[in-house]
Amino acid sequence: MSQVDSALVETLLTALGNAYAPYSSHPVAAVMECPDGQQFAGCNVEVAHYKGLCAEASAISAMATAGQRELAKVYVMGPGEHLCTPCGDCRQRIREFATPDTQILVLSREGEVLKTYTMETLLPDAFGPEQLPAR
Ligand SMILES: [Zn+2]
Repeated sequence: MSQVDSALVETLLTALGNAYAPYSSHPVAAVMECPDGQQFAGCNVEVAHYKGLCAEASAISAMATAGQRELAKVYVMGPGEHLCTPCGDCRQRIREFATPDTQILVLSREGEVLKTYTMETLLPDAFGPEQLPAR
């Protein structure tokens, strides 16, 4: 299995440590990497009414806030050794900014790549911006 670089692991572990997950006790970290190499981290942020924000959504918000609109790579790190794949809502959110070449990598806490997806394998035949009339 391959390993991501130590700076990225550090970024993910910091985000994981900052996750606010008092209800699920399931902290998650994500990093969105854009084609120019810029990276945006996020963690899950839960709230008492249970409509919290996923790590992927948090990182995508940071990316969009910086004016970025395309994903080259998505990194997701969960709390354990299980595959912490993006939820259905986040798959659609990633799809919004993905290309056919975007890679979604699910990592262990040590930065080991447990599994790599393309958008097509993560969310086959997905609905996307192309299905809507041109604006
Ligand atoms: Zn999600």
